[in-house]
Amino acid sequence: MSDVFDGHLHEECGVAGVVASGRDVSRLMFFALHALQHRGQESAGIAVNDDGHVMVQRDLGLVSAVFDEPSLQSLRGAAAIGHVRYSTTGANRWANAQPVTRNRGDGMVALGHNGNLTNTDALRAELSGDPEPLVATNDSELIAALVAREPGSLLDAVAAVMPKLVGAFSVVALSHRELVAFRDANGVRPLVIGTFDGDGYCVASETAALDQIGATPVRDVRPGEAIRLRENGFDSIQALEPGEPRLCVFESIYFARPDSVLEGSTVWGQRRAMGAELAREHPAEADLVVGLPDSGTPAAIGFAEASGIPYAEAVVRNRYVGRSFIQPDQDLRRNGVKLKFNPLREVIAGKRLVVVDDSIVRGTTTGQVVAMLREAGAREVHMRISSPPLRWPCFYGIDMPNRHELVASSHSVEEIAAMTGATSLAYLGLDALQRALGQPSDRFCRACFTGEYPIPVPDSTMKLRFESPVRA
Ligand code: SF4
Repeated sequence: MSDVFDGHLHEECGVAGVVASGRDVSRLMFFALHALQHRGQESAGIAVNDDGHVMVQRDLGLVSAVFDEPSLQSLRGAAAIGHVRYSTTGANRWANAQPVTRNRGDGMVALGHNGNLTNTDALRAELSGDPEPLVATNDSELIAALVAREPGSLLDAVAAVMPKLVGAFSVVALSHRELVAFRDANGVRPLVIGTFDGDGYCVASETAALDQIGATPVRDVRPGEAIRLRENGFDSIQALEPGEPRLCVFESIYFARPDSVLEGSTVWGQRRAMGAELAREHPAEADLVVGLPDSGTPAAIGFAEASGIPYAEAVVRNRYVGRSFIQPDQDLRRNGVKLKFNPLREVIAGKRLVVVDDSIVRGTTTGQVVAMLREAGAREVHMRISSPPLRWPCFYGIDMPNRHELVASSHSVEEIAAMTGATSLAYLGLDALQRALGQPSDRFCRACFTGEYPIPVPDSTMKLRFESPVRA
């Protein structure tokens, strides 16, 4: 769904894996994927290994639409992996749903990937003579095909393939005997290991998924590490020389669930701290602080606490917009924000508002939000953004417009304020963002703010995203 419609960047994907032979692993996976649903709503899939076989069920749609009781009953096994997808590469069609599968020796490998590879042309060329054709258009199938060609254990095969992959990847892979999880050398996408009190192990994109299935976090999969989960522990290979850690900073700003823990603190706490920094850096005279739900809410609370201006719930969000395959008609699309938000007039009328949101992509949505609040009677609308201006496209798994479409790449803050009709507009500075995260800046990828890409991006790919014409 285009962000002209819903105004936001899209989550990439979510992955999870579980080994627990005494438990119903497909049911655990179903609930883990439920907790990761915010990371992708286009397709969902689960693979289990059962008595020497790998079985997969995947389809377009939400986790609850793809699986029902009979399908979970039929997915029996000792280990499972799962995936929810938003298409960053490859169209939204069945063949691109994950886990993808590939024949490997006398069995099969199933694989789910969160991230984006930047050397897919080279990998496709390497696979061109492969007897099994590539059927999907996503880069996850390329990883599966490369793993399928390697002999030995799944862990050894993964370790042999990892040096060929350039880009961001947090991956789960399952064969009839092994479940392996691995992460790129910079750890751009999150991946955390959990345990059921030592009796079964699991991995997931976010700790919220571990909470959901009753597992406790052990530690993150390290950058460049491949682990094989076992009933009572895990084996580890440092397959790649670990690079500088570069977790995507947008996980903290917007993508991850507020109840997940990243880099040792909850995302909710990080967002609240961003709001407090924003209040100190860019104060405003106002009557109420309002967060655009849900991702703007913790930052708005932080802004209110630091500024002393009361926090108010003034906008109600329809949480199910964007989760339907029914597209709105032209008029509804044009003002998509009304499908998503409804203002509480009795709270807003006559008030000067500070409105906190996490980011501005094209600016269209912000303009619609400001207009909506003014129509509801707001006297002033001071937009405060809990991240720096988004100026550079992402090549590591976030669906982001090309550079020309990012409004801050070609407009000053004052120009954006004028375009959106806001009384004032201010963004959180990079240093303030770092203070809020409590970690040194070199722990994060911040390329969409700075243009400093930590993992090489081929010139041809770069050119495409920088020169394609602006879409209407
Ligand atoms: S470019 Fe931005 S969105 Fe992409 S990985 Fe880096 S910080 Fe995250």
